[in-house]
Amino acid sequence: LISSVTLPEEKLGAVPNGSSTDSDVAKRESVSRLMDIIINSLYSNKDIFLRELISNASDALDKLRFLSLTDEEVLGEGDNAKLEIHIKLDKEKKFLSIRDRGIGMMKEDLIKNLGTIAKSGTSAFGEKMQSSDDLNLIGQFGVGFYSVYLAADYVEVLSKHNEDKQYVWESKADGALAISEDTWNEPLGRGNEIRLHIRDEAGEYLEEKNLKRTAQVMYQAALMESGFMLNDP
Ligand code: ADP
Ligand code: MG
Repeated sequence: LISSVTLPEEKLGAVPNGSSTDSDVAKRESVSRLMDIIINSLYSNKDIFLRELISNASDALDKLRFLSLTDEEVLGEGDNAKLEIHIKLDKEKKFLSIRDRGIGMMKEDLIKNLGTIAKSGTSAFGEKMQSSDDLNLIGQFGVGFYSVYLAADYVEVLSKHNEDKQYVWESKADGALAISEDTWNEPLGRGNEIRLHIRDEAGEYLEEKNLKRTAQVMYQAALMESGFMLNDP
């Protein structure tokens, strides 16, 4: 599951101010409020960001697998056909990245899935969180992605769907976000790469041994959450 490779240099974090936020300030505010709730209520359980990202990657692989049952071509060839999840570390630049060769997201998907709180009211989630320490709530409310801010202060999502170009979504924990066509990173082929710039307080995730152990545990947690049998990754 885990391979430690250095990320391609210079480009990390070098996102120009893209065609940011066509969508409105209100949405961004609700996103940033949600982030506050997540950070405050889950801070002592930061590890779950790995569970959420691994479970998203695994869902993305499942979606592609499902499509491939009726259309083998969606898989592509060579590396693209390898339905894997890789976690990489760049200790020096403090980036952790999670890469999958799943279905990926089109530009619209990035806007819809990562830019708004579509599936649930922020306040409903907030109320629930306040009266519960259930770590699964974040998954149940469909806001798992935002748990990245437990460990990161800056996040980039590179995504390539078969039916669109490659895009970069970037956001800081304050809720400001931008989406641009990705003309500077290595082509992904297909799938998703999430790059987390690790907060100073979350330096443990930059230790390979630590990260490996936590990722294994959170991988099992992700499998349990989605009802799969436990197996050796
Ligand atoms: P949920 O997984 O419950 O839907 P999340 O906040 O974890 O909620 O993710 C929001 C959405 O973003 C997902 O439903 C999916 O459509 C999209 N997404 C997240 N990660 C990926 C990924 N690695 N590949 C493709 N789509 C993704
Ligand atoms: Mg999820």
